[in-house]
Amino acid sequence: MSARARTGLFLLLIAVVAAVSTWSTEAWMRRARKPEDAHDWVHRQLNITPEQDRAIAVTEERFNRQRTVIMERLRLANAELAQAILEGKARSPKVEEAVQKIHAAQADLQQLTLEHVFEMRAALTPEQYDKLLRLTANALSQEVHH
Ligand SMILES: [Zn+2]
Repeated sequence: MSARARTGLFLLLIAVVAAVSTWSTEAWMRRARKPEDAHDWVHRQLNITPEQDRAIAVTEERFNRQRTVIMERLRLANAELAQAILEGKARSPKVEEAVQKIHAAQADLQQLTLEHVFEMRAALTPEQYDKLLRLTANALSQEVHH
């Protein structure tokens, strides 16, 4: 293979990697917006009373605040990854670092959501809590299938 052909192939490879990465980032961002809706939807499914709503208000507030922080970390890490791909034109330590940050943020988001679910237990009836666990388990297994 000539040097020119190798360069061409290399550039094509970069284009493919960039496209796949953009696609997966967008797919993730689409899904990342869903937990917000899923979260509100789950709340509605539980028929939470006004008293329960007041009881979990502090938890909800903290959850929303922490989620906003994680989503911002995720947004920055994605921007970092895009930048690293354009700059390095290959799988560089910078790319690796950005991917690690994305994974860490995703893991934190999942952890936060689970903690939130378990925290709500105190305010819910046993029936509501069972339903919450079922809905959460469903949502998690759907994530895996997509
Ligand atoms: Zn909530």
